[in-house]
Amino acid sequence: MNAVTARTLLSPAPLGGDGIGFLGASAFSVLHRAIRLNFLRGSDLHAILGVTLRKGDDLFRRMTRFEPQQQALATTFPSHDFTRRTYWRCENWWPFGGPIPWATLPWRLRICPSCMRSCYHSMLFQMPGILRCPWHGDTLIECCPRCDRAFSMDLGRQTELGRCDCGHDLVDYVATAEGVGGPPARMSEAIGTYLCWAKANRKENWLIAPEGWDGFAWSALHHLCGRLPPNLNRVQGDEGREPEGDMVVEAIHLERSLKFGSPRLSPNSGLESFQPSMAALPVAWYTPLAAVEHQLKKMLGELARSGTVDKDQLSQATVCLPTYLCGRRVFFQTECLHRVVLRTMAKLGSTLSAASESRMDCAKEFYALINRHSLGRHLLERCIRQMLLRGFADGVRVVLGRRLPSLYASARWKPVVRYPWLLLNLPAGHVPSAQINWTLQRGTD
Ligand SMILES: [Zn+2]
Ligand SMILES: [Zn+2]
Repeated sequence: MNAVTARTLLSPAPLGGDGIGFLGASAFSVLHRAIRLNFLRGSDLHAILGVTLRKGDDLFRRMTRFEPQQQALATTFPSHDFTRRTYWRCENWWPFGGPIPWATLPWRLRICPSCMRSCYHSMLFQMPGILRCPWHGDTLIECCPRCDRAFSMDLGRQTELGRCDCGHDLVDYVATAEGVGGPPARMSEAIGTYLCWAKANRKENWLIAPEGWDGFAWSALHHLCGRLPPNLNRVQGDEGREPEGDMVVEAIHLERSLKFGSPRLSPNSGLESFQPSMAALPVAWYTPLAAVEHQLKKMLGELARSGTVDKDQLSQATVCLPTYLCGRRVFFQTECLHRVVLRTMAKLGSTLSAASESRMDCAKEFYALINRHSLGRHLLERCIRQMLLRGFADGVRVVLGRRLPSLYASARWKPVVRYPWLLLNLPAGHVPSAQINWTLQRGTD
């Protein structure tokens, strides 16, 4: 049966086209509701709703990240308010400036169990900092409340979309037919406030994600979001969220009296290189770098005295530490940095150099943002320095551990890999600041 015949036979249009109680619903939500109301199977989807899915496609990912599918759904249900795709595009909800780091981010469906009874889902639930449903107060979940399995939205495999393999059905048919997500006035208030806040936040806060996939991305993002507007906070229970688990949080503030004449990081320092190299840094960076080395040597000395490592091997290994002071420059071998830190830093470093035609649009935008603020470049330089220092402290332990495997025998010597999530706050007319959230990765690569 082709699409046209199917649509003609199904008269009137498929159920699920009314969106009165579905304010702010995602494209996934609209499709999910239509599937349940019309009892559709995988093969019916294209014929009746115009949406194409491949075998094994996760419906949630398809509908939230890919515009052609959203467009197809909007064509099927053209006359209703919720098809205004403002609510469907993730970019309209995202609270940070810069591209959404899809390649870095686990993207899983998060639901409010009360909203899901009527197949209601909003992109709001997917956003950093939103941990509870703003109108029901339910904690948002990513796994089946009965068996703890992650939700799967694969129409080819499941008998009913939204019913877990354990038999638990998140969806209630009557609630879905009624099509009301939650109390309309509170939904409208919360969504309006959030979108307004996110738009303002995007203008001043730019996110730099690490250059590698991070399973702990959401811990960093939730924390970077800081305080949400009061009427969302009412049910968020925020009050300065504590960092989760092993995440390290570094706040970067510029000193009130900046020395404008002090040596600055050159645009061609070597830190803008995505490959390991010898970087030439301002001489003022020597003291903090040497402090890291000093700390490290002290620790290694204690290990040598306790007999954990061989003294001669140790002195051989530490000869290769990467910092050298030479004239008015500090030379630093970036080989000791983890590749994700190196590449993330290079992304920042390349912003210091003059704008070039080859820049991607988002890099151009970031360049403009940094240069528009009188202290933008100072802040960027401080961020690079901070990233280098912790990247060095972490990275050199991994490198030395490789050269001296006996180090691993000591419980005190625990090499770590952390990925940096950087948020730069550049409010016009105010002193800018930044925050780096370092997520602890498993293993040492
Ligand atoms: Zn809810
Ligand atoms: Zn289950």
